[in-house]
Amino acid sequence: MTDLSIPRCSLTPACEALRLEVREFLHEQVSSLPARRKAESWTAFDPGFSRSLGRRGWIGMVWPRDFGGHERSDLERYVVLEELLAAGAPCGAHWIADRQSGPLLLRYGTPAQRQALLPRMAQGELYFCIGMSEPDAGSDVAALRTRAERVADGWRINGTKLWTTNAHRAHFMIALVRTDAAAQRHDGLSQLLIDLRTPGITIRPIRNLAGETDFNEVVFQDAVVPHQALLGTEGRGWEQVTAELALERSGPERYLSSLQLMLAMVQAASPHDAAQVEALGRLTAELATLRAMSLGVAGMLARGERPNVVAAIVKALGNDLEQKLPQLAHDLFNEADHAAHPDLAEVADYLTQVAPSFSLRGGTREVLRGIIARELGLR
Ligand SMILES: Cc1cc2nc3c(=O)[nH]c(=O)nc-3n(C[C@H](O)[C@H](O)[C@H](O)COP(=O)(O)OP(=O)(O)OC[C@H]3O[C@@H](n4cnc5c(N)ncnc54)[C@H](O)[C@@H]3O)c2cc1C
Repeated sequence: MTDLSIPRCSLTPACEALRLEVREFLHEQVSSLPARRKAESWTAFDPGFSRSLGRRGWIGMVWPRDFGGHERSDLERYVVLEELLAAGAPCGAHWIADRQSGPLLLRYGTPAQRQALLPRMAQGELYFCIGMSEPDAGSDVAALRTRAERVADGWRINGTKLWTTNAHRAHFMIALVRTDAAAQRHDGLSQLLIDLRTPGITIRPIRNLAGETDFNEVVFQDAVVPHQALLGTEGRGWEQVTAELALERSGPERYLSSLQLMLAMVQAASPHDAAQVEALGRLTAELATLRAMSLGVAGMLARGERPNVVAAIVKALGNDLEQKLPQLAHDLFNEADHAAHPDLAEVADYLTQVAPSFSLRGGTREVLRGIIARELGLR
């Protein structure tokens, strides 16, 4: 049976010193934001904030200086992410570029692509979205039907992407498309870097339960991008997208999306209410355990390992924790408590509406459990 233990990882004094620096910066920038805005955190879109973070050197932290990065360590980056999430900083504009599009470009991009895009991403000025899911291809991404054919002046794209977060605000999409209809379904895929201003692209917002329009349907009708838009190797899109998914699933945002509610509950709790004290104590222990696991995954990534399966475990367990918090807030605190603590009420209401999506985005709970079971030899 595969060993799925996660080695313990400790942060260095340099990381802890950086933490204090980031905390001070965030106190100035974020502490006065409304509670609901903080609860959106890594999905809240604020280009001004992203630019100020870029100026501090906290985007593209681990990338080479030649491409606008700062050559810091993976663990230093992890500390910055933790602090951003704990403060509820509005990171949605740059989050995808920093987490996965930039690293993907570093690994597979041509020198010209890297030089053109990475420095502006690191400055917090250039934003990306993820073009994987389609109307009939979600969990089963390889079922996708969006086609790109080689034509004289580049690639002509036809098809529809779905649930594309921030497509209406991003500059580029990295899309997985079918470039060889005759090949086996995993072999005929490639990734394209698509400038979203290209004629032939229609972006339609989709409203979620909370009334927000963060994700979209993106329709391509004979949209032509240049030959140089190919990212990596033609036909190797499946391998590339698998590497991208590992980046998408391994960060601390996968267990900290409801943290603002935990903090609001701690603020509102009474030390004389045994049920509140016990429940919050348990939650703290669970969070501490998940944090140790998540940090362990960060340590494995820092050593160049590929912890795909343990990252799936942390995401699956993290989503369970994130999703049970809204119900707990309703069970542990009565109407009078909610009235006396408007932040608690506001964040609990918001997370009640959006938390169901946490175990869908980035791979569903069932699919992650399938991956884990396969690795353990259980299916
Ligand atoms: C908030 C949010 C933001 C998103 N942003 C993006 C984005 O920016 N870009 C992007 O490309 N996509 C995005 N997505 C889409 C997301 O990746 C998909 O929703 C997800 O992969 C599931 O696909 P689906 O919705 O088509 O559901 P389906 O794949 O149709 O699944 C339906 C149900 O069947 C279950 N199921 C499916 N296959 C299996 C299986 N093999 N074994 C057991 N159960 C199974 C699933 O777990 C699920 O419960 C986003 C989704 C959300 C909710």
